[in-house]
Amino acid sequence: SRTRLLGLRSLRSETRDNVLVELHANIELPVEVSTVLQNGASGIGLLRSEFMFMNKSYLPDEEEQYQELAGIVSQMKDLPVTIRTLDIGGEKLAVALQNEVGSGPNPALGLRGVRLSLRREDLLETQLAAILRASLHGKVRVLVPMVVTVGEMTRVRQIYNKVADRLRSQGHAVPKTLPPLGAMIEIPAAALSIDALARECEFFAIGTNDLTQYTLAIDRSDDQVAHLYDPLHPAILRLIYEAAKAAARTGIPMSVCGEMAGDPRYTPLFLGMGLRNLSMSPGSLLLVKQRVRRLDSRTSEYQTRQILEQWDPDRIAMMLDDFNDLA
Ligand code: PEP
Ligand code: MG
Repeated sequence: SRTRLLGLRSLRSETRDNVLVELHANIELPVEVSTVLQNGASGIGLLRSEFMFMNKSYLPDEEEQYQELAGIVSQMKDLPVTIRTLDIGGEKLAVALQNEVGSGPNPALGLRGVRLSLRREDLLETQLAAILRASLHGKVRVLVPMVVTVGEMTRVRQIYNKVADRLRSQGHAVPKTLPPLGAMIEIPAAALSIDALARECEFFAIGTNDLTQYTLAIDRSDDQVAHLYDPLHPAILRLIYEAAKAAARTGIPMSVCGEMAGDPRYTPLFLGMGLRNLSMSPGSLLLVKQRVRRLDSRTSEYQTRQILEQWDPDRIAMMLDDFNDLA
């Protein structure tokens, strides 16, 4: 019941065998921060920055973005806030950028995410400057969407350093060690080349929404094929598992955002793959915490090994239901 769930707010997010699982929130609007705190999240794992660009006929300048971001970061006090750079393109649109994106033959495979940021470096510079200034109000990480190659991260990092120098020369305080820079793992190519991306990334966040879309070649916004959009396809599970193992080998922290992370049915799978940081919509936080507290990490590991041997998504779903009933 709801009251029972609310009682979980202040309880620790750990398994029966005391394995801590960080539960962070995905947000797309500043008003969501109060719900994030009410539901006991230990951070914001994905701040979608598109809200600053949507429903606006102009591009927000550094000061406007700084004010918005600083507001969120300070409200979160010392809890980490992972700010994602602009992910316009594909199904995410912005009036002021209409001429840049959405004009190619296939927007989902076109100029979007970091590709747009590297085409319009002026936009990225403005945004990174706003993020760096906001980072002084709390604990910030910078997340880059739609990354495919290590070269993209190298270029983003060059710009990041350049922007930090520019801010310093303008008299702004900038932390000596810049906030960690990381990549979304949401395209199969990225999931399969963690070792390469590790050279330029200080953290990773798996985006299961786009990872599912691009692995299965199913447009996440197309109703006609929505019934085929199945995150339990063995290819998705294997990609996540391989990526998690590769990240563990490099020692670089990896979280999971995307809808899968907020579905308590999948919690034993992520635990069993060794993932310890899940980021979800604020409304799912307590449900997932409840699930975490009923699980045992060793049992989850054993069950996950069994599931990774399966090929039939329906059978995988049934096995997961059984495991969750037992817990
Ligand atoms: C994802 O792709 O899984 C993700 C978390 O990002 P978005 O849903 O904003 O594309
Ligand atoms: Mg995505």
